[in-house]
Amino acid sequence: MPNNDAHQQARKLIALSGAEILSANQLSDQQSSNAWLAAHLETCASCRTFAENAADTIHGLRAIPIAAGRGLVSTTQIRVRRRALELQRQRERMWLVAVSCTAVTLCALLSTVAFWLGFAWLGARAQLASSVWQVGFLVFCVMPALVAAILLLAKAKDQG
Ligand SMILES: [Zn+2]
Repeated sequence: MPNNDAHQQARKLIALSGAEILSANQLSDQQSSNAWLAAHLETCASCRTFAENAADTIHGLRAIPIAAGRGLVSTTQIRVRRRALELQRQRERMWLVAVSCTAVTLCALLSTVAFWLGFAWLGARAQLASSVWQVGFLVFCVMPALVAAILLLAKAKDQG
């Protein structure tokens, strides 16, 4: 019975003091309970095994969060960096699209004005009624869209 109490006391001390109990050479120098525990561990194999297991478990438990923490940090950093790159590329694409749209719109406007002026000039030169060259201008403007529509229809027919 007192022997049993000693084991329990030893295991309680091991549980309270954690992993340091095995690694420390200072056992005998510290508190009397530590000295007693050291003495007990010297003589008791089962308590020594218990202490070793406890130390291993504590080491393991301490290593896991550190590993997980580092892994999590690096994957999070990679993800954040990747997302930032993605956003940057998206912004660049959007900028390119905006510039292209603006350029196309400007070109269309300028060429429409130029063709309008050209048709007016030709109409005046040929002494046509303004309605005539204006209809000509409309047909000329609509023609590319008509041609494109006809081509698309022909292509759809070929594929179908
Ligand atoms: Zn023991």
